[in-house]
Amino acid sequence: MNLNIKYLHIKKNLLTVENMLDINPYESVKKKLDIVADLINLDPNTLKYLKKIERALIVSIPILRDDGSLKIFEGFRVHHSTLRGPAKGGIRYSPDVTLDEIKALAFLMTFKTSLLNLPLGGSKGGVTVDTKDLSKKELERLTRRYTAEIINMIGPDIDIPAPDMYTDSTTMAWIMDTYSMQKGRTIPGVVTGKPVEIGGSVGRVEATGTGMAYLLEYLSQKLNYELSEMNIVIQGFGKVGSVVAKQLCNISCNLIAVSEKEGGIYSPDGLNINEMLKWKQQGNLLKDYEGKNISTITNDELLSTKCDVLIPAAVENQIYSKNADKIECNILLEGANSPTTSQADAILNEKGITIVPDILANSGGVCVSYFEYIQDIHSYFWGLERVNREMKNILIKTFEDVYKLSKEMRVSLRTAAFAISTKRLAKAHELRGLFP
Ligand code: NAD
Repeated sequence: MNLNIKYLHIKKNLLTVENMLDINPYESVKKKLDIVADLINLDPNTLKYLKKIERALIVSIPILRDDGSLKIFEGFRVHHSTLRGPAKGGIRYSPDVTLDEIKALAFLMTFKTSLLNLPLGGSKGGVTVDTKDLSKKELERLTRRYTAEIINMIGPDIDIPAPDMYTDSTTMAWIMDTYSMQKGRTIPGVVTGKPVEIGGSVGRVEATGTGMAYLLEYLSQKLNYELSEMNIVIQGFGKVGSVVAKQLCNISCNLIAVSEKEGGIYSPDGLNINEMLKWKQQGNLLKDYEGKNISTITNDELLSTKCDVLIPAAVENQIYSKNADKIECNILLEGANSPTTSQADAILNEKGITIVPDILANSGGVCVSYFEYIQDIHSYFWGLERVNREMKNILIKTFEDVYKLSKEMRVSLRTAAFAISTKRLAKAHELRGLFP
């Protein structure tokens, strides 16, 4: 091969690898650990250990459609780590679900539970399905069969699922019922995010968004920002995005843009959150909402809208090397898991944007899931005031530790957060030793 052509060939392959690292969700999250490993002098064997998942199961989920035809879906359950306790992580239903995505999300759960110092590990599950294509009865059959397929991987002292994208408290009720029927007794502790009437915790549905509002309030005080003068932009208007929007409007922030998968709306005057919620409850798309000085906006436009606080609350890898330069906010509060790739993270840090990383920003959800898990074990249920007070205490204490370390080490909040959780995991690994 001509030398020039060979060089171009190698360069092209390298570029492909570079792009893949930026966008492959599992490679992207592992890079975050590499950065921290160097800084805290992590033992190379421990680094190798933490980069691997413990186990993964791929299952086929055959269901009968309402018209009598057979359709087979693919599902996954991944345990990244049970070093610090039973695995914990949500279940996602989405047409984009892949094994690598679930591995990445399980990995992040390990670092999130460790950061909050909860006695739990990290896991995730998912089914490659577009829920819009299925009736409620078909979704129930899918959920029950998926539960039966992964039954040996879950349990209150093994791995405890919870809702994630396109799953909710009803999904958890079906899983809890299927699991209980198979085991011959009622076992509420197998999942969190259940309806309150069957062992769920009050405040769990809102926990992720509520926790994000607590953290933003606290960070604003630290940075001397006035909340009532803050313009907020939110991508994603589901369980996380809509709740954080409501909570921030309640503390008088100005919501100027919101979006969902199909697009969104923008108004420099601010959007009325109660009307937005009512519009969605009626089954409408955000982009079809009309009003004075309100215009439609694409997801790309929304992400580059000038604002004080940008909240990605949809899917991963939304902010990446190609659009990071266009992000114009002071604070990036990560509601979604891994919305920012490692390359984009470096660009945003260069620009001086304060990033509250996913494993801290959206950790209110797993925090209250942990409360639900212990309420189920004790069969004793707390009131909303206690749930929110205890969550706030844990989140603010964790934020303080992360903030302090970031100043001491002169690193980003993300690196400091990963440093704290990695050190805890490394200690657990050292104390437990390597079997056999
Ligand atoms: P959800 O299914 O309730 O809502 C998802 C929202 O994102 C919807 O509005 C949807 O239209 C939008 N969306 C989906 N794909 C999109 C795309 N490509 N572009 C723009 N918008 C898109 O899900 P959720 O529970 O709100 O979860 C959102 C994110 O928050 C996920 O990354 C999830 O892992 C993370 N998270 C959720 C929780 C929780 O308690 N639910 C906790 C921690 C983190």
